[in-house]
Amino acid sequence: MHRATKIVATIGPASSSPDVLQNMIRAGLDVVRLNFSHGTADDHRQRAETVRECARQAGRQVAIMADLQGPKIRVGKFENGKTTLEPGQPFILDAACELGNDERVGLDYKDLPRDLKPGDVLLLNDGLIVLDVARVIGSEIHTIVSVGGDLSNNKGINRQGGGLTAPALTAKDMEDIRTAMSLGADFVAVSFPKNATDMEMARQLANIAGAPYGIKPKMIAKIERAEAIPALQEILDSSDGIMVARGDLAVEVGNAAVPALQKRMIRMARESNKLVITATQMMESMIHAPVPTRAEVSDVANAVLDGTDAVMLSAESAAGKYPVQTIEAMAAICLEAEKSEHSELDKDFLDRTFTRIDQSIAMGALFTAYHLGAKAIVALTDSGSTALWMSRHWTHVPIFALTPREGSERAMSLYRNVTPLHLDTSSDRDTALQQAVEVVVSKGYAARGDMIVLTVGEPMGQPGGTNTLKIVRVGDVL
Ligand code: PGA
Ligand code: MN
Repeated sequence: MHRATKIVATIGPASSSPDVLQNMIRAGLDVVRLNFSHGTADDHRQRAETVRECARQAGRQVAIMADLQGPKIRVGKFENGKTTLEPGQPFILDAACELGNDERVGLDYKDLPRDLKPGDVLLLNDGLIVLDVARVIGSEIHTIVSVGGDLSNNKGINRQGGGLTAPALTAKDMEDIRTAMSLGADFVAVSFPKNATDMEMARQLANIAGAPYGIKPKMIAKIERAEAIPALQEILDSSDGIMVARGDLAVEVGNAAVPALQKRMIRMARESNKLVITATQMMESMIHAPVPTRAEVSDVANAVLDGTDAVMLSAESAAGKYPVQTIEAMAAICLEAEKSEHSELDKDFLDRTFTRIDQSIAMGALFTAYHLGAKAIVALTDSGSTALWMSRHWTHVPIFALTPREGSERAMSLYRNVTPLHLDTSSDRDTALQQAVEVVVSKGYAARGDMIVLTVGEPMGQPGGTNTLKIVRVGDVL
């Protein structure tokens, strides 16, 4: 069965052994996320190696996404590891405090007191604890607990409505970008960007760090700050894709605003020819249970119907009890949801103009395949851009993207409805087309007599060179 929606899974203690990883890949894992908020550079390097080895054994490419920690603001540590906060009690966040107790706790972002004023609301530990700011005195933020609970070491802090000035790239992020490139990351996810400048800075750092390894990673902007919403178009323009980072976003803008924002972000990403990942708590209950809840099933299915490229797992696959079953369940939900999606290709094309030759061929191929009811689209591509353009529109025709470049092959594992495959294109065009059809047939994706729509560039091997559209039946001599 051809699944169009891709699965990104964070790996961690529950999923670092080759056995589990292999089963996850077999179950449908497309992109591995390394979470740089946890673990050392060596942990990440080790995991990346295991992923590559397992992918080799499975005979398919699995991409790696390095997710930077970013300026997540956290409380410090406590003498006893935690404190319990009661509603109505005073509590102090103190940038000068070393070790916390029942009255106060330290802050890893020393400038936080300067960003706050009386009346501000702080949300701790993913919004489970709420503090009202009463006054700020020097390094001390005096608050009154409005929603209490247990607060333990290093829990995150958000301000309701956003507006904290911490820069998007910390010194740790800059170091982590170098680690990410040295282990061959295909994607870099930037946490808490506010605008295009944050993304441009991250891209420059990644390109410089990737240069010795010949890697130009794709940059993913995590949309998780209130300020990023009005800046969404410029962030999209400066990124290769975005993540609907529902965890922190929900804390900043309020839970109820997130579903509509998710739909808008997915639509805008696709209209801008960018990628989009929907993340956080998609299968949360499967951290402990072997089956998802009805609500989680609906959530994943709705992200698919919204048009997301990928759905993402966090703790479910990194630290949960059922990493393999979670991927199996997610894959099954995606497949079923895709069946019920109807194509709006003709509508998508209204009022659109395509000025580039390669893009026009891509759109022509998609239109032709859809209206002729072709079995498959087979795109010979170098950079992957033909496959990207085609994958921004939904049709039930699967797209096979054949490329000699391993980097393109891995990157395309995130593109919706695109199955990347390896093809050496050192021969002439007709031989390459013949071989492309053979690869697709040998994998069982098409059979004798099936109609296939092909795209290719001549001369071959030039990024952006697609200029030819050809319609064949499998078995015909090309
Ligand atoms: P995180 O990002 O898991 O790194 O916090 C995703 C989110 O905030 O939803
Ligand atoms: Mn986040």
